[in-house]
Amino acid sequence: MLPMNFALELKQGLAPLVDLLYPPRCPLCGDGLGQQGGLCVACWSELEMPGEHVCGACQKPLPIADTDELPDAEQEPQYCEICYDEAPLHDGVAAGTIYNAASRKLILSYKHGKKIALAPMLARIMSARLEQHEPDETPPLLVPVPLHPIRMWQRGFNQSALLARELAKLGKGELLVDGLVRRKMTPSLGGLGQHQRETALSGAIKPRRGRLAKLSGRNVILVDDVLTSGATSDACIRALREAGAQNVRIACFARVVEGFGTRD
Ligand SMILES: [Zn+2]
Ligand SMILES: [Zn+2]
Repeated sequence: MLPMNFALELKQGLAPLVDLLYPPRCPLCGDGLGQQGGLCVACWSELEMPGEHVCGACQKPLPIADTDELPDAEQEPQYCEICYDEAPLHDGVAAGTIYNAASRKLILSYKHGKKIALAPMLARIMSARLEQHEPDETPPLLVPVPLHPIRMWQRGFNQSALLARELAKLGKGELLVDGLVRRKMTPSLGGLGQHQRETALSGAIKPRRGRLAKLSGRNVILVDDVLTSGATSDACIRALREAGAQNVRIACFARVVEGFGTRD
């Protein structure tokens, strides 16, 4: 095996050659770029990032009633309607972007177009929302939303697991790629009501038996590509808590928020 530095130097040394063979292009519009692994400025500005005015429990962006008066940071936290009615299962959501036309295109190309080379960039956008843990602290476990083995076989990869791996490389936690298992194939949850979603997911996601000891007492970051209704993540959180996990936060690349991200 090559020594680490040498491998790195070799990779850096080869970069101009790689760029010559595969000129860096923006994955959204195909325009030329200065270097691999990013977006062009125009497409970057199409991505919608969550702002500062968010729900104190789930970090969902809140509409600002009076745009002249931005909420004061010192103010009591405000809650969205859902969290106001009932506290969420999770302990917070770190979303890289708000789901819109641009983030949708990136996710489609990553997940269904199998452009797994996008994973480092998507994870970099997500990681901006996650704090760095202190070196003397026990890092949180990065656990991806699991795929059913048949789905995994069809797709060839678990998109959330690749994001979790990149987040671990960026120092956001310790990767536990197989903390959860999906025992049941679930249909697409889009269009189903809350009760139907819960029935479809009942017993579908469990902690992996061999990972119970690892999960017990740990803080977890559940990694997902797109956070939609929250039914799947709730099923994952129940399974993680069953295994004794403490604080469970969600990290996703794109979050669907009604009334936001409607630029498409
Ligand atoms: Zn572009
Ligand atoms: Zn909320």
